[in-house]
Amino acid sequence: MREVCYCGRRGDVEDRDPVWRGGHGEALRCPKCGHLDPLAQLDAAARREVFEEAERRLLQRLAGPARTGHGRERVAW
Ligand SMILES: [Zn+2]
Repeated sequence: MREVCYCGRRGDVEDRDPVWRGGHGEALRCPKCGHLDPLAQLDAAARREVFEEAERRLLQRLAGPARTGHGRERVAW
């Protein structure tokens, strides 16, 4: 799901940083400008999927940027 932020950043919404509150995804934060997008336009199931994917990508980034750049940039889940 691609989206353009207010700051002009383009990319997958799943590449934004998930913000959790009380065990529920509350919003996705743009890594460039810090804008919080609550994804209010999505229904509960779609929202949960987006948050789970955003968390996977976040963990993947934290796990090791050294592993990217040699062919496969993304792990197939
Ligand atoms: Zn932004």
